Amino acid sequence: MFQVNPRKTVYDVCIIGSGAGGGTAAKVLTEGGLNVVMLEAGPRLDPDRDFKEHVWPYQLAHRGAGVGGLGSNFGEFLAPNGFWEIEGEPYTAAPGSSFRWFRSRIEGGRTNHWGRIALRFGPADFRPHSTDGMGDDWPITYEDLAPYYDKVEAYIGVFGSKENVPNAPDGVFLPPPKPRCTETLIKKACDRLNITCIPSRMAILTKPLNGRDACHYCAQCGRGCKSASNFSSSQVMIPPAAATGRLTMIANAMAREIVVGENGRAEAVSYIDKTSKSEQRVYTKAVVVAASACESARLLLNSRSASFPNGIANSSGAVGRYLTDSVGSDLAGYFPQLERMPAHNHDGVGGMHMYMPWWRFGKQNQFLRGYHIEFGGGRDMPGVGGFDGVCEEHEGYGVSLKQKCRSSYGTFIGFSGRGEMIPNGKCFCELDPEVKDQWGIPVLRFHWQWSENEIKMAADMQATFRSIVEAGGGTVIAGTRRHPKPQGMEKNPDMQQPVGKISQGGEIIHELGTVRMGNDAKASVLNAHCQAHDVKNLFVADAAPFVSNPDKNPTLTIMALAWRTSDYLLEQAKKGEF
Ligand SMILES: Cc1cc2nc3c(=O)[nH]c(=O)nc-3n(C[C@H](O)[C@H](O)[C@H](O)COP(=O)(O)OP(=O)(O)OC[C@H]3O[C@@H](n4cnc5c(N)ncnc54)[C@H](O)[C@@H]3O)c2cc1C
Ligand code: SF4
Repeated sequence: MFQVNPRKTVYDVCIIGSGAGGGTAAKVLTEGGLNVVMLEAGPRLDPDRDFKEHVWPYQLAHRGAGVGGLGSNFGEFLAPNGFWEIEGEPYTAAPGSSFRWFRSRIEGGRTNHWGRIALRFGPADFRPHSTDGMGDDWPITYEDLAPYYDKVEAYIGVFGSKENVPNAPDGVFLPPPKPRCTETLIKKACDRLNITCIPSRMAILTKPLNGRDACHYCAQCGRGCKSASNFSSSQVMIPPAAATGRLTMIANAMAREIVVGENGRAEAVSYIDKTSKSEQRVYTKAVVVAASACESARLLLNSRSASFPNGIANSSGAVGRYLTDSVGSDLAGYFPQLERMPAHNHDGVGGMHMYMPWWRFGKQNQFLRGYHIEFGGGRDMPGVGGFDGVCEEHEGYGVSLKQKCRSSYGTFIGFSGRGEMIPNGKCFCELDPEVKDQWGIPVLRFHWQWSENEIKMAADMQATFRSIVEAGGGTVIAGTRRHPKPQGMEKNPDMQQPVGKISQGGEIIHELGTVRMGNDAKASVLNAHCQAHDVKNLFVADAAPFVSNPDKNPTLTIMALAWRTSDYLLEQAKKGEF
């Protein structure tokens, strides 16, 4: 019988990953008129079902504490986001190295419960080599990216204040929330020490914006926000892309290989349909990889062909190299004066209302580059296990235990430094020659070693935290910013590093640089438009293209860069290049 073969659909662009980078690309490219297919390794997200913003502990199995109180990954109380370990998808570390990799498998990626700290990189951050001779300069300047920071901030909503701090540029800001009393206490201590302490800059709406409601200050951002008052790609980037009618989202689709045609260009993406466990293929005129920095490197390395035996676009051998994470160190203090504070509501946004940008920029320090300080504490809604430490230390039960919980509640403030790591030859990822994931895809093997500069920086963080605690009338205690009160760190592998230590590689979840951009095609993978030197219709739109990892958290820059890359791709498409 006569049969009609359905015509093969060829999309204008295939985007891989729906997080900060992929979501931004989807919005810009579909609104620019292109037909986009998006492959997302995880399921679709339904905020009404998946977010736990106003859920009570008793509504969850094990009261949200996990089986045996051990918690599961970041905890059952949080928005679905990602995991330190994913069943069937291992990664490995080379002998002598340790690295932690927090990955996501859901629409929106890790933006469903990121900390929403949204800082611009400064002009010097794009020119590190010119500033102190270490690392490399970016092929773009702050001025190239500034208009895109403007666009992202104006669209997603970032609160903050104009401060003119050197190398910590002001942005397009919504008004910041007022400081809590703990924050005022620390600000006063910082004033005494000449440490700059200013309103924080976070992607949370303090006024309604673009159809989204303003924050109602429930302080539960980590559980996901049903009113979309904070930023997630799933709620802020994907919906406008879908509304154009030009976005085809394929969920549970794990991209395995970018397929190259005879003309040396990417022509299709092969993926595992996780539901049917079958291999499928989408055809496309251009590919935007945004699977998160290390996953993007992995995908490129796994896309081997006769033209690219070492992985697509990897003639330089730079894919997987130049891996960095932020330098992290934590300390917490106990402030007895907070015990006497009259009970009042400390809620606000889910996160800090104030922070300390790097205040010694341009000065002579014991180490190169700098760090900023995040801090938190006070009487916000106690998380699961919030009183474990008191219970462990205090003999008794009933009224006396409750009194102890009440009097110590809110008296701890924790500090976290986030500093710049300079890329070094000992930190990189590559394909493990033996280990494969459950679909037979080779996994990443990590190599990691901090250099002396980062170790000195972490020691400086510790000394600074100590001086702030003492200037504020407190005493230093063991603990971390997320869990200021010590509460059995050995029980919970998700807690940050013990007091006084530098973080583990990858632990700060700012891993980046593995598919870097540059003007020299022999030492970089992408050009100044995040377009592969070797494959003109291949782009990368997450943190993999970053040339350096300044102290500022990376996600605002991921979005600004993805927007700029997408504008360029649109321009090229209009010229008929794809
Ligand atoms: C708890 C936490 C707090 C954080 N706080 C901050 C903060 O305050 N400020 C800040 O700037 N950053 C913060 N971050 C980091 C921030 O979340 C990431 O920088 C950002 O989400 C990275 O965006 P991305 O698009 O590169 O990747 P992701 O958001 O990780 O998204 C990648 C997407 O790609 C999908 N994917 C992966 N592999 C494949 C594949 N092969 N095929 C198809 N799809 C694939 C994943 O499922 C995922 O949805 C935090 C992260 C966490 C976990
Ligand atoms: S604090 Fe504001 S932004 Fe965060 S979850 Fe609550 S309402 Fe949403």
